[in-house]
Amino acid sequence: MNNIYALGFFILTCSAFAEAQSLSSSEADSLMMKSIYDFSLTESKSYDWLDYLSNNIGGRLSGSIQAERAVKYTEKELKKFTMRTELQSVMVPKWSRGTPEFAYMQLNDLSTINVNVCALGGSIPTRQAGIKAPVIEVTSLKQLSDLGRKEIEGKIVFYNRPMDPTKIQTFEAYGGCVNQRYSGAEEAAKYGAVAVIVRSMNLRLDDYPHTGSMSYGDLPIENYIPAAAISTNDAEKLHTFLAIDRNLEFYLKQDCTSWGDVESYNVIGEIKGSKYPDEIILVGGHLDSWDLGDGSHDDGAGVVQSMQVLHTMKSLNYIPLRTIRVVLFMNEENGLKGAREYARRAELKNENHIFALESDAGGFSPRGFSFDANDDQMKVVNSWKILFKPYLIHYFEKGGSGADVGPLGKGGTVLAGLRPDSQRYFDFHHAANDTFDAVNKRELELGAATMTSLIYLFDQYGIVNKRIN
Ligand SMILES: [Zn+2]
Repeated sequence: MNNIYALGFFILTCSAFAEAQSLSSSEADSLMMKSIYDFSLTESKSYDWLDYLSNNIGGRLSGSIQAERAVKYTEKELKKFTMRTELQSVMVPKWSRGTPEFAYMQLNDLSTINVNVCALGGSIPTRQAGIKAPVIEVTSLKQLSDLGRKEIEGKIVFYNRPMDPTKIQTFEAYGGCVNQRYSGAEEAAKYGAVAVIVRSMNLRLDDYPHTGSMSYGDLPIENYIPAAAISTNDAEKLHTFLAIDRNLEFYLKQDCTSWGDVESYNVIGEIKGSKYPDEIILVGGHLDSWDLGDGSHDDGAGVVQSMQVLHTMKSLNYIPLRTIRVVLFMNEENGLKGAREYARRAELKNENHIFALESDAGGFSPRGFSFDANDDQMKVVNSWKILFKPYLIHYFEKGGSGADVGPLGKGGTVLAGLRPDSQRYFDFHHAANDTFDAVNKRELELGAATMTSLIYLFDQYGIVNKRIN
């Protein structure tokens, strides 16, 4: 934007404010929201920040050098337009993938077919020579326990329950499958399995394996077994070949390492409230990502949109009544340590968070928000819905916010999550194709504007923050 345009924009914004004084509150809110959307679609910095995070820094797994660089970069940027920044120390697990994984199936004529796999986050490696064993296919943990040790021992368990394509909310389809990935190894190890292969959490058939967190639960460490994801195309292939030859063998080699906990940081920036500085409105996303792609959708988008909320307010000369705080959480993907530490310290300091909004569902076209709030609070929120109509934002539903703001809910804080269109999210989630080119600039900016508008309304009107039901 050139200077003359910038000056024009500034005058327009100021006159919008002056005009707003003599208008009803809903007219004033409409004008303000128009300014927010106009600014976000013309002068937003979010796409440039995402470009830097994705292309100059890359995948930001907790404890990695890239995560450290992302902390420094976002703090430096936040300093430019906030009143206070802070790096909040937190210990996070460090896990690394090592050399790329390798896997194939070997048919009874000894021919082999290579398949695309990746280690699940937190998995142990295979022994150096790899593991080769027969495969048993299951579609649920229940089926696994029905088969029991007799059928499982010495085999590689192949979890192949696909995401349900009939679910319009794709996060529900994900929720219906993800226990295979998270608990699959723990459960299979109890029956003597030697490794697990999990169908990638993806609605689309393609060649990308999707990683994600997994846990060994309470298993003794000597019983841990390697766990990997297989692409949906190769899961189909393995299923087909198993139907032809149930004695086929599967070879897996992976080289990952858990290094223990290391120090990292939540990055915080805020603008103090002019009238109610002790009432805090939080907006955030998570700075860490998986390592296969560069984490542009998950959750680079949420990070830069959250930063954009404060940048837009500052650029429009909006002086918040309440304290607006952006928090870029560390370690959402494989531990949630940043979110827990933030909530712990907030409680210790007796901070009053009246509202916390998270963006962690990709940088796609925004549709609305989901809220963790009681009925009275939802009434207030629903009264604002009409203001969002010109921007095609319509989804205001109760139930569900986000993993990073979740721990704040105990204190009665109203929680929310931005809900972008979710149909394509799992094409990219935790996979090598979650890269900068997969994010559309305009969709990203619309998301930031939608978030800024909601934060503005909470700032203007506050909300009863004690849970009634
Ligand atoms: Zn995420």
